Amino acid sequence: MQITKILIANRGEISCRIIETCRRMKIRTVAIYSDSDRHARHVLMADESAYLGASDPSESYLNIEKIIDVAKTHQVDAIHPGYGFLSERGKFAQAVKDSGLIFIGAPIEALELMGSKSAAKLTMEKSGVPCVPGYHGDDQTDLVLYTEAKKIGFPVLIKAVSGGGGKGMKIVEKTTDFKEMLLSAQREAQKAFGDDRVILEKYIRKPKHIEVQVFADSHGQIVHLYERDCSTQRRYQKIIEEAPAAGINDVTRTALLNAAISATNAIDYQGAGTIEFLLDEDERFYFMEMNTRLQVEHRVTEMITGVDLVEWQILIAQGDRLPLSQMNIQVKGHAIQARLYAEDPMNGFLPSTGLLQDLYFAKDENVLIDTAVEQGDAIGIHYDPMMAKVVVWAEDRDACIKKLRRILNTSYVFGVKSNLTFLTTIINSERFAKYQILSNSLDKGELDYHLPYRDEVSAIYLDYLMDQPSSSDVWSIKDNWRMGQSVPVKLKFDYQQQSIVASIEIKNKAYLINGTTFYQIQKEDRCFISNKSVQIICQGERYELSLADYETTTSSSADNNAIISPMPGKIIEIKCKAGEKIEPDQTVLVMEAMKMELSLKASRESIIKKISCQVGDQVEADSLLVELSEM
Ligand code: ADP
Repeated sequence: MQITKILIANRGEISCRIIETCRRMKIRTVAIYSDSDRHARHVLMADESAYLGASDPSESYLNIEKIIDVAKTHQVDAIHPGYGFLSERGKFAQAVKDSGLIFIGAPIEALELMGSKSAAKLTMEKSGVPCVPGYHGDDQTDLVLYTEAKKIGFPVLIKAVSGGGGKGMKIVEKTTDFKEMLLSAQREAQKAFGDDRVILEKYIRKPKHIEVQVFADSHGQIVHLYERDCSTQRRYQKIIEEAPAAGINDVTRTALLNAAISATNAIDYQGAGTIEFLLDEDERFYFMEMNTRLQVEHRVTEMITGVDLVEWQILIAQGDRLPLSQMNIQVKGHAIQARLYAEDPMNGFLPSTGLLQDLYFAKDENVLIDTAVEQGDAIGIHYDPMMAKVVVWAEDRDACIKKLRRILNTSYVFGVKSNLTFLTTIINSERFAKYQILSNSLDKGELDYHLPYRDEVSAIYLDYLMDQPSSSDVWSIKDNWRMGQSVPVKLKFDYQQQSIVASIEIKNKAYLINGTTFYQIQKEDRCFISNKSVQIICQGERYELSLADYETTTSSSADNNAIISPMPGKIIEIKCKAGEKIEPDQTVLVMEAMKMELSLKASRESIIKKISCQVGDQVEADSLLVELSEM
């Protein structure tokens, strides 16, 4: 049957992206929205829209009953789940099917099988696909898990059976840590997935994450659309992805692609899927899991193959054959995607909420920005803090890196903390250029992204100020300079908690900073300012400055005499009592925020003076949780 109307059971950039393809295919679209998404872009873009309920996902984007009701009322033929939310829930696919609609996704059996990391590994082992050594049995008693962990040999990785998004994953380095880590993993898993079962895996010390995009139709045909390297991750979550994978040899590549086809074959699959592998330092690869949906990083595959993956999903869902045979799927050039998150890389990647005071993305040929937010929008606590995907294509990898760097360095975001500087640092690094970023490199701090301050930054800042007609003080100085009277200008700002005072004058047509550094502004240098924050691009690097009375939108989790909640959330564990002595870095309490567990610690040796919260309390950002006194 021909699909003519689709409900998109999602929000944000992925809904917008699906609508784009539907428009091209002349398919009508229905968007759904929650309270905080009333004016969201995906709602404006769709032909029709329906309100679901409160912003909490359980009342809206995860509410199967409500979604099916809307689909029936709006008389759609099919539902596209996007990624995240209900995209991999067999129960949802079943409900869609039961109401006589088409689910644009994997078959229910495959969703259920691959939704369980243990069942998935068992199936793959049976069909000869190599898996990471480990334990994925039903017996979940502490003693059995402990014994199995010892058998595997430490370090061991604990993963949630129903896991995703890196949640519930814990590396255990030594036997004595096992019990505590297991408890924490089980608790996180229960919270996030309603299932506290775990699997254990040998922790690969030098892992690369390489995945293969596959597609299967209902006529028994399976193809791959080559691989992606998604090794650039923080907290087990991807932030930069590229295709094809650079730095692996062709023999490994062919073996990986073949293994991906075997894995797909083993489960009687249909639609878009991704087979994820881990590669160790000897390029041995292991099946990790299969994602039975469209991936966030599907754009890089689209760019190198020229295939619209959403279009293929729709065609296959309506029973068509795969549009291309394997022979006709060719790779051209290189593509890289960088995910822009509202988060603070300097503070444990804590999500940052607030109003987007200003946001701009540079445009260019073969550059795609997938986003659903704009200036004036709020980044809230209910949904994933990804603001945009910046995707770039070029003839080869070097050109692609260069282009991405240029795009990032001419874009900016103000109002919330973002990982823009972090992304630039990665892209600029030699490690990235030489394919040396492993999936744990960033968490291990192998890449130093604390750029030391340099004098040239202040010259760029001053140069910008002088070009602003409104800044009268500096303007008159420029007049003086024009007349050949060089009066030094003093600038004050903070850079990474350091107070900087720079004295700048003009000499020999260049800026002279602090009497020691000469600098001429370069073509690609930039300065962006919003309120009290300044972002400067100096020779390809991004520096974030703050002006004197700048207030941060997220506060640190612990100041000297108090433990303050860094964001709204729920207290799930209090590990100390009033009067107790605590060591620096000791966890005082654990809170849950944005579906993550945050351990709040004391920054130095102190005594607990007063605990102002209880387990189960919902707390606001910046609430005083625990008062400390000095030793
Ligand atoms: P999730 O389903 O939560 O995303 P995955 O199983 O896909 O979890 O793993 C996420 C990331 O964690 C991988 O991309 C990889 O970087 C890391 N990882 C997973 N398993 C291992 C392992 N056994 N050894 C080392 N790193 C691993």
